[in-house]
Amino acid sequence: LRRRIIRAEKIEVVGHLAASISHEVRNPLTVSRGFMQLLLQSERVNYKDRQYIQIAIEEIDRAEAIITDYLTFAKPAPEHVERLNVKTEIERVIDILRPLANMSSIEIQAFLLPFAVKGERQKFQQCLLNVMKNAIEAMPNGGTLRINVSIDKDYVLIHISDTGVGMTKEQIERLGEPYFTTKGTKGTGLGMMVVYRIVETMKGDLFIHSEVGQGTDVYMYFPSYYKSDVEKSSKRSVEQVSC
Ligand code: ADP
Ligand code: MG
Repeated sequence: LRRRIIRAEKIEVVGHLAASISHEVRNPLTVSRGFMQLLLQSERVNYKDRQYIQIAIEEIDRAEAIITDYLTFAKPAPEHVERLNVKTEIERVIDILRPLANMSSIEIQAFLLPFAVKGERQKFQQCLLNVMKNAIEAMPNGGTLRINVSIDKDYVLIHISDTGVGMTKEQIERLGEPYFTTKGTKGTGLGMMVVYRIVETMKGDLFIHSEVGQGTDVYMYFPSYYKSDVEKSSKRSVEQVSC
């Protein structure tokens, strides 16, 4: 028993470390990138050295992208499973992504309803962020990002669609495979892997429909928070109506 307790503590420490990584590592990365950018502007730097600096900047951006795909919402405190309001969580992610969408003249249309699902907040937000970020990155010349929330039987359906480049059948099949990316050095190929893992943890499901040159639809199903409670007590189902 003692050994098991120590193991549990160790796992918790690992969780804390992961959160620290995103906070503590991002700052030095940003500072280093800033100085390299400054060097690039210097007249004393010759062409060859300029190329080296450029590569260093790209590598820093890569490290930053990996942290973004894994740990955007990580906090030092351990996470716990709780009731999440789908509308609130999606709004938070939209706020974070709006500047990115604006850069590519993307319109965001959200039809959100405050349904409840069960999960860890940071993971749920990370999952939404990775899917929506892909949608935005698929529309470099503008388009529409649409987010629709509805109920389908015992599931909350989050439908995220874009009018972007779309995917071939082969690309759809490789989605979620670690390091599969079509974005060259700008991509990590980790975003969808993280998404699939989180959806699975939340006992959800994910479907993709995509057409090259037309756009992509991502359908994410999460068990409604109330499903499990309705089974347990009939009192709670009254609460569902008022939600
Ligand atoms: P990354 O975004 O770093 O490339 P992801 O795992 O998030 O890694 O996505 C893997 C690949 O799946 C992307 O490189 C892209 O080719 C494809 N993809 C994912 N979402 C979309 C989308 N909405 N539209 C077009 N392609 C997409
Ligand atoms: Mg991605």
